[in-house]
Amino acid sequence: MSDDDRILNPNSGEDDQQVEKSLRPKKLGEFIGQEKIVDQLKIAIAAAKGRQEPLDHTLFYGPPGLGKTSLAGVLANEMGVNIKLTSGPAIERAGDLAAILTNVQKDDVLFIDEIHRLNRAVEEVLYPAMEDFALDIMVGKGPSARNLRLNLAKFTVVGATTRVALLTSPLRDRFGSVHRMEFYSNEALYDIVMRSARILGVESTPEGAHEIARRARGTPRIVNRLLRRVRDYAQVVGGGVITLEVARVALAQLEVDELGLDENDRRLLRAIIELFNGGPVGLSTLAAALAEEVDAIEDVYEPFLLQLGFLQRTPRGRIATRRAYEHLGVPFIEKPGPEGGPEQGRFWS
Ligand code: ADP
Repeated sequence: MSDDDRILNPNSGEDDQQVEKSLRPKKLGEFIGQEKIVDQLKIAIAAAKGRQEPLDHTLFYGPPGLGKTSLAGVLANEMGVNIKLTSGPAIERAGDLAAILTNVQKDDVLFIDEIHRLNRAVEEVLYPAMEDFALDIMVGKGPSARNLRLNLAKFTVVGATTRVALLTSPLRDRFGSVHRMEFYSNEALYDIVMRSARILGVESTPEGAHEIARRARGTPRIVNRLLRRVRDYAQVVGGGVITLEVARVALAQLEVDELGLDENDRRLLRAIIELFNGGPVGLSTLAAALAEEVDAIEDVYEPFLLQLGFLQRTPRGRIATRRAYEHLGVPFIEKPGPEGGPEQGRFWS
């Protein structure tokens, strides 16, 4: 399966980027859901403005498509400062980061996406920049080499990562505020569908919008993408309005099921159940069986399956739960565990 073809892939594809720009919330008041984070940010913004200082360095982590980049933009807008966007893999050498840092203006936001992918040499330049707003440069070679310290403007790093566990602790410790993004409730996603529909100029009934919201696996990027696909369908066969019926037929055509799973999710669960007897199966073995990247399984498929309680991560590997069997309509047979207690069900073949 190709990642780009996947309608439910929470990563941003090429066709998403243009539309996403127009759908991105610009101010905190437009940002739907994540209430806890929004409340904390409101206070942080008011406090920083009151002190006339830049915001604390801020880290957002969680699965792709939940609004980390959007929040970085919102922070800059609310503070009335510029934002510079970059990413861990884009900064290849220490010199690249030094060039970026020396261009940052007072109070600006430097957004670093996929910050867990910064390499070591680059990270070491970032430490003093975050802590002391300083850049250490070595000049000269051999015995005459010496360290030169350049002062930088006071600025804010906003980092985003889908893999907080891969962040080194010195880097994590330099963020004054750290926020975990949660999957969105169906109600919040409904509000996002209605807002996006308004911006895109398409009409949706409340029932149609609910249907899209509840199949979007808790992710705004996916809800917007489903909305766009259903809108196309509505235009061609539904008289232009997204009704419940239009949404259902369009989503069925896209093979998105009642819970928001697509064929690839079902294939993953079926592999654990049918090829590995329900698990536990190691991640790399599973990836090989599916001809998938380990990263894609961890970042794209698993978070939502874990959230639904269809999958468990154990030290011995991944296990498909009773719920997963039920969803796929596969009989679940209770089997005694090692201590005589109930263990994971097995597929009876
Ligand atoms: P991430 O950086 O976590 O991958 P993004 O910030 O790029 O996610 O969000 C993806 C898209 O989802 C955005 O373009 C925006 O349209 C939409 N979006 C994200 N969060 C929200 C929200 N809280 N309210 C409305 N739309 C949102």
